[in-house]
Amino acid sequence: MKLVKFGGSSCASAEQFKKVREIVFSDPARRYVVVSAPGKRFPKDEKVTDLLYLLYEDLREGRGMERQLPKIERRYREIIDGLSLSLSLEEDFREIRERLLAGESCAYAASRGEYLNAKLMAEYLGFPFLDAGELIAFRPDGECDFRETERRVGERLRDMEKAVIPGFYGLDPEGRTVTFSRGGSDVTGSLIAAGLHADLYENWTDVSGFLVADPRIVRKPEVIDYITYRELRELSYMGASVLHEDAIFPVRKEGIPIQIKNTNRPEDHGTMIVANTLKKPRFIITGIAGKKNFCSINIEKAMMNSEIGFIRKVLSVIEENGISVEHTPSGIDTMTLFIHQEELISNEQKVLQGIQRAVNPDLIELEADLALIAVVGRGMKSARGVAGRVMSALAHDYINIKMIDQGSSEYNIIIGVRNEDFEAAIRAIYNMFVLSAS
Ligand code: ASP
Repeated sequence: MKLVKFGGSSCASAEQFKKVREIVFSDPARRYVVVSAPGKRFPKDEKVTDLLYLLYEDLREGRGMERQLPKIERRYREIIDGLSLSLSLEEDFREIRERLLAGESCAYAASRGEYLNAKLMAEYLGFPFLDAGELIAFRPDGECDFRETERRVGERLRDMEKAVIPGFYGLDPEGRTVTFSRGGSDVTGSLIAAGLHADLYENWTDVSGFLVADPRIVRKPEVIDYITYRELRELSYMGASVLHEDAIFPVRKEGIPIQIKNTNRPEDHGTMIVANTLKKPRFIITGIAGKKNFCSINIEKAMMNSEIGFIRKVLSVIEENGISVEHTPSGIDTMTLFIHQEELISNEQKVLQGIQRAVNPDLIELEADLALIAVVGRGMKSARGVAGRVMSALAHDYINIKMIDQGSSEYNIIIGVRNEDFEAAIRAIYNMFVLSAS
């Protein structure tokens, strides 16, 4: 049994609805369907969720509902007409207007995109509609109650053979609507898959899976066919995004794989996200991702290595200022901290002063505009010369390496370069491991 989730662009128009139906009906195991709100049909299009946030904003500022609501109604009407459905959402829109005028929350407004879309999808597929409010439980503090949600999913769906469920939101114990953060329908899908003990969580989107590198940097990068949850964590943290980060935990606990699939190219394999696999990655590395705008604080002091508690004192200053440290490469008499530039800038002088007082260094140097690149892969552990090849690829392209860090898990190598070298560095690494291997 499969839980299938369709993202915003997969159900943005009548055309896309037709593709969804074909996909669902082509496999009887696809019995439970989670949908997002209608997303973009073309690059400059507006997402219904964005329109709903604007609608709420307009209301709060006293501008009324007439700027956004008709646009939203039109999006759904076009889908209804395009599919020749007999369903009418008039009654739902009347209720939405009334509840918003009566002071309903922003989360309620935002959640209506999924709610209405699931109603349409249920009608079109001929599946029963089940409101997410009956399944997804939030605690009074606004955090999702995973255990209660799984319990409800088990209980409520036990006797339902099929269902269409809206993503993105649930209810708290007082019956108030709460949403996940943006892109949160992925989390709904994961929670329901876990509660159902599904065999597979299929996440349908508009790309054929995770790519080895960012397509804005590398031309037509290869698709990753198998990736482990751990590798995915490393890559997502470094900025690769296809799936909401919190979508991993519920299914991971149950050992349910996630398959990323492309609604517009359903025959493509996509990416399988699994706990473990004997399948070798196609290339030694699984993926490359990175982020710009870090800075480094380089601290020098003679005999630093024999001064007990030196690192702890420096790190406590950073901690006291509420800053998180990304990496701390070090030498005998030097220690470097890599930090998000934005986080340091507001407290810069306080931090420097704190370090000065705490450890009395010989020298503190700052460097701005650095980028970090993660080269990730389960295959690195058993391959020789991966780090060497990364270094020579960069050297060959005249890129100066500012920092190297290989974690003991041997899952990733982190490279620091200047912001301006970021794209060239990713291309050099990609070419070395992927292009020259394929
Ligand atoms: N519609 C929501 C958003 O745009 C949630 C989702 O699509 O997952 O963020």
